[in-house]
Amino acid sequence: MFLRPATDIMSSSAALCEAVMHMRGDFLADELGRIARSLLGSPFGVFVPAAPDGEAQPAPEPFPATMVGLVQDIVCSGRRFGYYAVWGRPLYDSGDRQHMSSLANLTGNLLQMHAMALRSSHAYIEIERQLSHQAQILDQIHESVLTMDQTGYITSWNKGAERLFGYTAQEAIGRNVLFLYVNEDPAFHDAFMEQGGQVMEVRRRKKSGEVFWASLSLAPLKDLQGRPAGLIAYLSDITDRKRTEERLHQLAYHDSLTSLPNRTLLTKLLDQSMAVAQRNDASGCVLFIDLNRFKQVNNALGRRIGDELLRQVAQRFKAALRDQDVVARVSGDEFAVGLFDLRQHFESTTVARKLQAALVEPFLIEGHDLRVGASIGISVYPQDGTDAESLLRTADIAMARAKQTVGGADDGVAFYSQEMNQGMQERMRLETDLRYALHNGGLLLHYQPKFEIGSDHIVGAEALVRWQHPVRGLVPPSEFIPLAESTGLIVQLGEWVLEEACAQAALWKQAGVAPFRLAVNVSAREFSAGLPMRVSNTLARHGLEPCWLELEITESTLMHDIERVINIMDQINALGVTLSLDDFGTGYSSLSYLKRFPIDTLKIDRSFTTGLPGDSNDCAIASTIISIGQQLGHRVIAEGVETVEQLEFLRGAGCDEVQGYLFSRPLAADVFEQALKDNWTA
Ligand code: C2E
Ligand code: MG
Ligand code: MG
Repeated sequence: MFLRPATDIMSSSAALCEAVMHMRGDFLADELGRIARSLLGSPFGVFVPAAPDGEAQPAPEPFPATMVGLVQDIVCSGRRFGYYAVWGRPLYDSGDRQHMSSLANLTGNLLQMHAMALRSSHAYIEIERQLSHQAQILDQIHESVLTMDQTGYITSWNKGAERLFGYTAQEAIGRNVLFLYVNEDPAFHDAFMEQGGQVMEVRRRKKSGEVFWASLSLAPLKDLQGRPAGLIAYLSDITDRKRTEERLHQLAYHDSLTSLPNRTLLTKLLDQSMAVAQRNDASGCVLFIDLNRFKQVNNALGRRIGDELLRQVAQRFKAALRDQDVVARVSGDEFAVGLFDLRQHFESTTVARKLQAALVEPFLIEGHDLRVGASIGISVYPQDGTDAESLLRTADIAMARAKQTVGGADDGVAFYSQEMNQGMQERMRLETDLRYALHNGGLLLHYQPKFEIGSDHIVGAEALVRWQHPVRGLVPPSEFIPLAESTGLIVQLGEWVLEEACAQAALWKQAGVAPFRLAVNVSAREFSAGLPMRVSNTLARHGLEPCWLELEITESTLMHDIERVINIMDQINALGVTLSLDDFGTGYSSLSYLKRFPIDTLKIDRSFTTGLPGDSNDCAIASTIISIGQQLGHRVIAEGVETVEQLEFLRGAGCDEVQGYLFSRPLAADVFEQALKDNWTA
């Protein structure tokens, strides 16, 4: 029997699509067989699906060998889906074979696409399911969890975060996390984002404005390719714990009467400071203070008044010290102070004197006029002890010794080490002598000329103080300037120097000497708001034009409270008095500030001149300072020039002026005047 093809490939394809989309298993196989029969007008025809593992099943012989038929494998993208077989017609020609092949192609493509679509929709459903699980989990947990992108913009916000901060997800998502911060430095946050993975305690702000303590841990968030995409933040409120900790800390580490740190905290702080000091190769000291006459007050007037007295003493001690110094009450009427940023040990005696001075004013308590004094013992780290306990013990021993010294009942101060005691006595003698010299003509000025490279003319001079000691002879400034600075005597000394220098300049002016810049050194302590007025008054009193005067200030002056310093500098400049930066290169002045300082001259420190031209580092430093000066429009002078080689290097590098023994040592006034005249007539 011969059957004509019942349908063409177009109408078969519609049926084929329907079947692949909506049918499964045997139904699908039957329908595909039917489509094949119908397309080829065959009495028999089947679709045989491939075994689930693909290739394995060989094509069986579907029809009797006596009959004619067609078999066509269904393969797409290398995957075999099965085969079609039709038979029962007397003849199948090449057109039929063509039809059969087209049908198999189309079936293969459809089955392949359907399989892919199924796979991806399964995956999609799976992801949806997982996401919804995760969202539920996140919302269930009590912690607040939020995610943000790499720039800090919030990308998700769970229920815990809503509860903690009071913002809904809608209000929070899309905003930068910084809106939850409490004046915390965003730069810190950025640094943290890079590291990730730490736990820290932070303060954050709720929608209500309330600030709370939270424990924050951050973990990196990655995209599908594993690249950083942001952060996951877990936060929990730890305000209660913090408060308890603070209360416990206060109780455990503070004296309840005075609120000062107690011995336990002092010990801890001292040990910490010592660890830092050890790293920096620095020293420090402990002052042990015992109040004199306190026990009598306590016994005579009772405990309440005694307690109030201790409270007031504590306040006065605190007020007398700097913020970074620790003062603790160690027992009854004993206090201790840790000083750990000392440049010189004798500063500790200055602090001891300050503490004693704080007690000089009587205490007025409930109508009683009470006076107490203090004996103070000092131990020095590391020589007298390398841990807090031994420093406190040695300071205590020194305190007992201080009580026995003459006048010790009120103002004894003693070091633990005998050597330092001698040093202290020596310095106290020196201080007395210096004070005397200051008021009795024991000081004088020498003048060291400054030469212009090129013309070799004297263009200025530096006034340098000298102390003519009746026994020791001429004491160099290096021995008494630091002492004067630490005792505050420098202010009076500076006043004397300015006065003397101006008086001398006025004499030269009257003698017909052409004006030149006379430089006076000004210490950091002198550089106060009153300085411009003092300078202007002194100039006026001596009838001197401001162009006669220059002030040399050291880099260390510039390091504190920059704005205040610049303000004073501006005022001095406005007078017409120039400023030069002494010892330049030895401090740490920041270059960015340097351009803001109204400075006329940079002075290369002697320590750099010394190595010229042999030491390559010194050469580099000197050349750099010269070019900085040139860039910023400042003159540059080198001090301490002793050799022709140094001079030649400086000349080559473009330095403007020099000062040093090569040209002249500091000279007495009359000798300097003669040198000046010779220089200009030469
Ligand atoms: P400075 O201001 O850096 O002064 C330069 C110092 O270098 C002076 O030492 C000077 O005599 C010395 N000097 C100059 N040329 C040479 C040289 O070629 N070779 C060597 N080896 N030294 C040279 P002086 O007079 O001993 O003063 C030392 C420091 O004492 C001064 O350093 C300054 O910081 C301070 N000073 C001196 N007089 C005063 C003053 O009146 N007031 C204040 N506040 N400090 C002063
Ligand atoms: Mg100087
Ligand atoms: Mg200098």
